[in-house]
Amino acid sequence: MPRVGVLALQGDVREHVRTLETLGAEVVAVRRPEELATVSGLVIPGGESSVIDKLARTFGMQQPIRAAIAEGMPAYGTCAGLILLADRIADGIRGQETFGGIDITVQRNAFGSQIDSFETELTVAGFDEPVSATFIRAPRVVETGPAVEVLASLPDGAIVAVRQGALFGTAFHPEVSGETRFHELFLDLVAARAS
Ligand code: GLN
Repeated sequence: MPRVGVLALQGDVREHVRTLETLGAEVVAVRRPEELATVSGLVIPGGESSVIDKLARTFGMQQPIRAAIAEGMPAYGTCAGLILLADRIADGIRGQETFGGIDITVQRNAFGSQIDSFETELTVAGFDEPVSATFIRAPRVVETGPAVEVLASLPDGAIVAVRQGALFGTAFHPEVSGETRFHELFLDLVAARAS
């Protein structure tokens, strides 16, 4: 089983490490370029995307992550992680940047203050059974380029899971509800690239 990383600058790192370890992966908390160089795939956790962006730039991680993504490293982002994998943010705070890689525009905190957090059952392309999805101050995808596959939408049409090649992201947090299928997909992409 190849070694994978969870970007550990801010956010719910531990939940992702635990989920990946449950699936038998060897997992590294990635904070520095030297650690990134040892992994074959990267999970970008939920948290606060503007803070993760700032810390990534401060610690010299932005360019190495962009380079790894450009070389085809599989990556999975949840919530803030999805924002960081988006090529564009509709409403980023001033100067906010992303790693990019998925040809989408995201809107942060897209579900308003009354419904900051909610849970719902979602049908996801490629999964036999629905997913119990937890949304916490979640983004939504407001534009998708031609190479982007929509994996899940809410009943109102809001796109909440997308994939482009070896990169994918969910606006919700499977790692907090014991859902493991997205992490399995991530590990499958890592294994496919290694073979
Ligand atoms: N609202 C957060 C952001 O913009 C994301 C929230 C989350 O990751 N749960 O980064």
